[in-house]
Amino acid sequence: MTPLRNSKQRDIIRQALMNRTDHPTAETIYAELKPQYPRLSLGTVYRNLMLLKNLGEIQSIDIGDGVTHFDYDIFPHAHFLCSRCGRVSDIKIRDIERIKNSFSRDFKGRITTCNVNFIGICPECLNEENNDKEQ
Ligand SMILES: [Zn+2]
Ligand SMILES: [Zn+2]
Repeated sequence: MTPLRNSKQRDIIRQALMNRTDHPTAETIYAELKPQYPRLSLGTVYRNLMLLKNLGEIQSIDIGDGVTHFDYDIFPHAHFLCSRCGRVSDIKIRDIERIKNSFSRDFKGRITTCNVNFIGICPECLNEENNDKEQ
Protein backbone atom coordinates (compact mmCIF):
# COMPACT_ATOMS: atom_id res chain seq x y z
CA MET A 1 0.00 0.00 0.00
CA THR A 2 1.36 3.42 -0.90
CA PRO A 3 1.33 6.29 1.61
CA LEU A 4 -1.00 8.21 -0.71
CA ARG A 5 -3.58 5.47 -0.51
CA ASN A 6 -3.29 5.38 3.28
CA SER A 7 -3.95 9.06 3.62
CA LYS A 8 -6.91 8.83 1.23
CA GLN A 9 -8.40 6.05 3.34
CA ARG A 10 -7.88 8.16 6.43
CA ASP A 11 -9.65 11.10 4.76
CA ILE A 12 -12.64 8.92 3.90
CA ILE A 13 -12.86 7.60 7.46
CA ARG A 14 -12.40 11.06 8.96
CA GLN A 15 -15.14 12.40 6.68
CA ALA A 16 -17.51 9.59 7.68
CA LEU A 17 -17.04 10.38 11.36
CA MET A 18 -17.37 14.13 10.76
CA ASN A 19 -20.83 13.61 9.27
CA ARG A 20 -22.24 11.89 12.36
CA THR A 21 -22.99 12.94 15.90
CA ASP A 22 -24.01 9.52 17.21
CA HIS A 23 -20.54 8.45 18.43
CA PRO A 24 -20.23 5.46 16.11
CA THR A 25 -18.02 2.44 16.72
CA ALA A 26 -15.48 1.26 14.14
CA GLU A 27 -18.05 -1.36 13.08
CA THR A 28 -20.67 1.33 12.37
CA ILE A 29 -18.25 3.39 10.26
CA TYR A 30 -17.17 0.23 8.46
CA ALA A 31 -20.76 -0.77 7.68
CA GLU A 32 -21.46 2.72 6.35
CA LEU A 33 -18.39 2.82 4.06
CA LYS A 34 -18.40 -0.80 2.92
CA PRO A 35 -20.98 -0.46 0.09
CA GLN A 36 -19.00 2.41 -1.44
CA TYR A 37 -15.51 1.05 -0.65
CA PRO A 38 -15.80 -2.75 -0.85
CA ARG A 39 -12.04 -3.25 -0.39
CA LEU A 40 -11.97 -1.52 2.96
CA SER A 41 -11.55 -3.84 5.95
CA LEU A 42 -12.78 -3.41 9.50
CA GLY A 43 -9.18 -3.58 10.72
CA THR A 44 -8.22 -0.68 8.45
CA VAL A 45 -11.13 1.41 9.71
CA TYR A 46 -10.21 0.69 13.33
CA ARG A 47 -6.50 1.36 12.77
CA ASN A 48 -7.21 4.68 11.07
CA LEU A 49 -9.63 5.77 13.79
CA MET A 50 -6.99 5.01 16.45
CA LEU A 51 -4.40 6.87 14.37
CA LEU A 52 -6.67 9.94 14.09
CA LYS A 53 -7.22 9.72 17.83
CA ASN A 54 -3.47 9.59 18.50
CA LEU A 55 -3.04 12.60 16.22
CA GLY A 56 -5.55 14.44 18.40
CA GLU A 57 -8.00 14.93 15.50
CA ILE A 58 -10.79 12.88 17.07
CA GLN A 59 -11.47 11.38 20.47
CA SER A 60 -12.42 7.90 21.55
CA ILE A 61 -14.95 7.22 24.27
CA ASP A 62 -15.07 4.22 26.55
CA ILE A 63 -18.40 4.54 28.31
CA GLY A 64 -18.53 1.05 29.79
CA ASP A 65 -20.57 -0.82 27.17
CA GLY A 66 -17.55 -2.81 26.04
CA VAL A 67 -16.99 -1.06 22.70
CA THR A 68 -14.98 1.99 21.73
CA HIS A 69 -17.00 4.89 20.36
CA PHE A 70 -15.49 7.69 18.32
CA ASP A 71 -16.31 11.38 18.39
CA TYR A 72 -15.25 14.07 15.93
CA ASP A 73 -15.88 16.70 18.58
CA ILE A 74 -12.66 16.91 20.60
CA PHE A 75 -13.85 19.78 22.78
CA PRO A 76 -14.20 18.38 26.34
CA HIS A 77 -17.82 17.37 26.93
CA ALA A 78 -19.72 14.74 28.87
CA HIS A 79 -21.47 11.69 27.39
CA PHE A 80 -24.67 9.91 28.13
CA LEU A 81 -25.19 6.19 27.48
CA CYS A 82 -28.72 4.88 27.25
CA SER A 83 -28.70 1.50 28.96
CA ARG A 84 -31.76 0.49 26.93
CA CYS A 85 -30.94 1.32 23.31
CA GLY A 86 -27.19 1.80 23.67
CA ARG A 87 -27.24 5.24 22.09
CA VAL A 88 -24.41 7.57 23.13
CA SER A 89 -25.23 11.27 23.11
CA ASP A 90 -23.52 14.49 24.12
CA ILE A 91 -24.12 16.36 27.31
CA LYS A 92 -22.79 19.87 27.11
CA ILE A 93 -21.20 20.75 30.41
CA ARG A 94 -19.17 23.90 30.38
CA ASP A 95 -17.30 23.09 33.59
CA ILE A 96 -15.34 20.00 32.59
CA GLU A 97 -12.22 22.04 31.91
CA ARG A 98 -12.67 23.78 35.23
CA ILE A 99 -13.05 20.45 37.09
CA LYS A 100 -9.90 19.20 35.42
CA ASN A 101 -7.98 22.38 36.19
CA SER A 102 -9.03 22.49 39.82
CA PHE A 103 -7.94 18.87 40.34
CA SER A 104 -4.72 19.49 38.48
CA ARG A 105 -3.81 22.23 40.94
CA ASP A 106 -3.86 19.87 43.96
CA PHE A 107 -2.67 16.74 42.19
CA LYS A 108 1.05 15.97 42.17
CA GLY A 109 0.91 14.11 38.87
CA ARG A 110 -0.28 15.31 35.48
CA ILE A 111 -3.90 15.01 34.34
CA THR A 112 -4.33 14.96 30.60
CA THR A 113 -7.96 13.98 30.11
CA CYS A 114 -11.13 13.96 32.14
CA ASN A 115 -14.05 11.74 31.17
CA VAL A 116 -17.51 12.39 32.52
CA ASN A 117 -20.07 9.74 31.63
CA PHE A 118 -23.72 9.48 32.56
CA ILE A 119 -25.75 6.31 32.18
CA GLY A 120 -29.52 6.07 32.20
CA ILE A 121 -32.55 6.03 29.91
CA CYS A 122 -32.61 8.43 26.95
CA PRO A 123 -35.65 10.67 26.29
CA GLU A 124 -36.81 8.47 23.38
CA CYS A 125 -36.74 5.27 25.45
CA LEU A 126 -38.37 7.03 28.38
CA ASN A 127 -41.18 8.18 26.08
CA GLU A 128 -41.73 4.63 24.86
CA GLU A 129 -41.78 3.40 28.41
CA ASN A 130 -44.43 5.96 29.34
CA ASN A 131 -46.49 5.13 26.25
CA ASP A 132 -46.40 1.43 27.15
CA LYS A 133 -47.70 2.23 30.62
CA GLU A 134 -50.62 4.23 29.26
CA GLN A 135 -51.81 1.45 26.97
ZN1 LIG B 1 -32.51 4.88 24.58
ZN1 LIG C 1 -19.50 13.53 22.08
